[in-house]
Parts: sequence; C-alpha cells; structure tokens
Amino acid sequence: MTKRDADNGLGRRQFLGGAGAVALGGLSSAKLFAQTPAATAARGATDLLLVNGKIHTMDPGNRVVSQALIQNGRFTAVANNIPAPRGNIRRVDLKGRVMIPGLIDAHNHIVLVGNRPGWHTPLEHVFTIPDAIAALKDRSSEVPAGEFITTIGPVSAMQFMERRLPTLTELDAVNRPVYIQAAQGGTRTNSQGKAWLEAKGVMVGADGAITGPSLQTALLTLRKELLTPETRKRGALDALKYYARLGITTIRDCGAFHSEGPSGGVANENTYTMHNPFLALHSEGVMPVRLRIDFLHQDPPNANPPLPTLSQRLRNSFPFFGDDWLKTGGIGEFTGGGIEGLRAIAKAGWRAEDHALSLAMVTNEIKDRETVNAEIPLSGLRWIISHIPEFPVDLANRMNAMGMGVLVGWGPLRNGTNVGPPYRMLMNHPIKKGYHSDGGDITVINPWLNFSTIATGRNLAGQQILGDQMLTRQEVLWLATAANKWFIWEDDIGSIEVGNHGDLAVLDRDCFSVSDEDFKRTRSVLTVVGGKVVHNDGVL
Ligand SMILES: [Zn+2]
Repeated sequence: MTKRDADNGLGRRQFLGGAGAVALGGLSSAKLFAQTPAATAARGATDLLLVNGKIHTMDPGNRVVSQALIQNGRFTAVANNIPAPRGNIRRVDLKGRVMIPGLIDAHNHIVLVGNRPGWHTPLEHVFTIPDAIAALKDRSSEVPAGEFITTIGPVSAMQFMERRLPTLTELDAVNRPVYIQAAQGGTRTNSQGKAWLEAKGVMVGADGAITGPSLQTALLTLRKELLTPETRKRGALDALKYYARLGITTIRDCGAFHSEGPSGGVANENTYTMHNPFLALHSEGVMPVRLRIDFLHQDPPNANPPLPTLSQRLRNSFPFFGDDWLKTGGIGEFTGGGIEGLRAIAKAGWRAEDHALSLAMVTNEIKDRETVNAEIPLSGLRWIISHIPEFPVDLANRMNAMGMGVLVGWGPLRNGTNVGPPYRMLMNHPIKKGYHSDGGDITVINPWLNFSTIATGRNLAGQQILGDQMLTRQEVLWLATAANKWFIWEDDIGSIEVGNHGDLAVLDRDCFSVSDEDFKRTRSVLTVVGGKVVHNDGVL
C-alpha cells in the first residue's frame, strides 16, 4: 500500500479492477468511453506451456528453469517439471533457447515515434548501409508508389560500420521517396524525396543532405502534408510492434514538447492529442505492448496565473488510471514551474520526474526536492530523476533518504571518457535504480544497443566511454526487468514468477554467453504479453 492508496481507503489494483475502469482522465475520446469492459481482458491470450528452455526468471533468487506455464494471461507454474495441465493448452518447445521476462523501457518517447509522418520505419536493428537499404526496400513493398518512407529519430550514423548515413545515391535504390532524420548523424533524402521537398520550397543539398533552418521546414512540411489520424494510428502500431520484435513488452512514455499545430521540432507534438492513435489501438484491443503515459509540463516559474497547465492537469486527470494495457502515470519528464511545480505535485500526491544533464543540474534538483520534502514528505511517491551522467555517491545518499530513484541508460550515441552514469557505484548502493533508453528523438530505443554500452562500456562507434563502471549482462538485464517494477509501479511484471503477467521474450541467441558483437544484435523470436503472442518469428 502506498500513502495515496491508504488515503483512498483502497488498493490500486482493487481500484483499477472495477468494471469498465478503462477511461483515462484528461485523455478521453468518445470512442474510448464507448468501450466495453471485455476490451480490458487479455484478448487473444492463449494458455501456453513453454518447455525445454533456459528460462532466466529474474526472480529474487535469479532462478533459471526449463518450463513455464501461462494460464489466463498469467504465470501459474515456473519450474523444471510442471505436471501436464488439463484443458486446451498450447505446448511450445523452446529447443534450448533463452527466455527472459518481457523487457521494460521505463522512459522513452514512443508516442513521438508513433506520430511520425510517412510510412515510418525504425532502423535500429541494422549495422551496415547495405542492410539498411535492404530493410527500406523490404518496407517499400507495403508502401504505395510515391508515398514517403521515413525514419525520424530511431536511427544513427554511428550504428553503421561505415559510421555515416546512406547517401542519396544509395537511397535511390529504394523506389520510393525516403527521408531519414537521424538521432545522431544528420538528415538525408533520395532523389524522389528531394524532388518532392524542393517542390514544397524546402532546400535540399545536391547530396540529399538537409541542414540548418531547412531541417525544421522539411519536418514541418512532412507533418503538414502527410499526417492524418489514420497514418498516425498505423505509425503507432508499427512502432509498438517494432520494439516487441526486440523483446520490449512494457514502455513508459515520457512525453513531448507541446506544439499546438504541426511543428518542425523532432521532439515536438501536440501533447493533448498525440495519445489518440494509441488510445484508438487500445480501444480496438490491438495493443501489442503495454503503454504507461506520463505527462510533460513546462510552465514557467512565477507565471501569472501560476502553473497554468500543471494545475489543470492535477485537478482534472487521474494518476495511474487505466488498465493492464494502457495506463496513465505521473508528471514528467519535465515538471515545470520551478519549486512551485514540485510543491503542487507533492501536494496532489503524484509521482514526479525530471531529467538531469549535468552535475549542476542534478544537484539543484535534489536541493529543491529537499526543500519540498521538508514541507511535504515525498517518501512513498516514488519520485524519479533520469539520465544523471554525473552522479557522486553523496547525491545517491541524499536521494535515497527521500525515497527517490534514478533511471539510467542513455549511452550508445554518447562520446567522451567517463561520461557516466556511474552504473557500478549505483549497483552497490541501496538507492532504487532502473533502466531507460530515453530514445525516440535524440537517441535510440533498441534495448540491446543500450545494454551493449552498459555491459562493454563502449558506444556504438566502439569508443570506451564508461571508465570502470560497466555491469555484467545479468545486472543489465535485471535493470530492464525486475528493477523496473518500482519505476512502472507494478509488482506483477518484470519477472517470471507465479501470479505475474505472462510477459516474455524468447531470444534468437544466448544473450548471456554470445560475443559482445553478437550481444547487440539480439532479437526476440517470440514475444508474449499477458499470454498473447505479439511477435512470432517461426517459433509457433
Ligand atoms: Zn526523455
């Protein structure tokens, strides 16, 4: 029980279990309210008996077993010898493959990724230019002639062996307009894309590069011309499915910068309507991954009236409201409004998260929280600070004393030496810590690229950036599974244990023993969420 639950006189799970508890405060659409309680059940769930696996449970004893049984969407047995159950159960022979709990990315920007213009195609799983071109050509078979294939955010130059983006000539092998705006490494289009953009007044270099102010104009034009509610819904489903293929089963979205209309900023969207495509998928019962939604606010300090957007959110929305597939969370990854914003959030009993990009920033954030904590105890609200590139142990002590936790990850595209965060120090410290990618606009979401950096200390270009702060692969996987229960605020995900949701990924390789180079290429061949098969690459 949390303080908030105690105040309400009922447990959160009891509260959410109520019939028809599916509408989301502050996000309502007529369609959503029309939904029946049946939509909240594990639609499409199958009872599964998984056998002959190396099942890394991530339970408190880190047990590895060979069998797991899922009934009605939850694990009902996890052992080496499960008696054959009665009833209609599908037996899955894992043939010695490694199975892990479904991965949890406790902070990224999937809602931005789901709202990109064009036939959006994340490219975080390919490591050479020819493989990227092949992936784009594959994609073109589903895209009508003349329509744009786009990758906006989830790709970087650094991930390719060639350490650059594809050229205009290379992209011309794809018989569609192509637009790639990378998280790192620039923006490129091909001849068809160049002709279309130039006809709309966007300046494009002879080599297909788009730079300077043209970059904003290009993205703004693509958004204005190509986005419809239908294309957004398609993009949202494609984005969630892409990451299910990499083993992710739960995502906490941490918002966007608000723009009322279409914007040229890669991290901008209308934060009051951008969830609609995801709500539509949810109401149709086709979500492939669990989504948790936090609300980003940026009210200026000392505004008049004070906290113009945050105060309305806290009055008119519900935290942690929804169902197992889609649920609201807290305020973040910006709280806005300075210390007054923090006070208002604490008073309302909500979770708060801000990111920190430097030692000075995290030091100030902790100081402000200590001030608020002296007036309104924060313990029990699970407040979070994310990224923390520099984070000495005394700051960990001070945050831990207030019952706060830190989210770390955020590394594959970074440069420099000892750029942090200090993973090893955190692992040895009692403070709550979990994994986040923060990907979607300025870095990559692919968990295996992020895990690879944490385990090897190297960025995607192979440069050592973490000093002596690396973790073992077991520790990395723990951060992205069991450790993230605390950050999602749900105990029944993140480990393969009796009673937990049947969320899992069967991997295409043994991620605990393959070489470093192979580790980052890990993918899921079977992803299951609540007993529902959401990705199957020939295992079933
Ligand atoms: Zn973020």
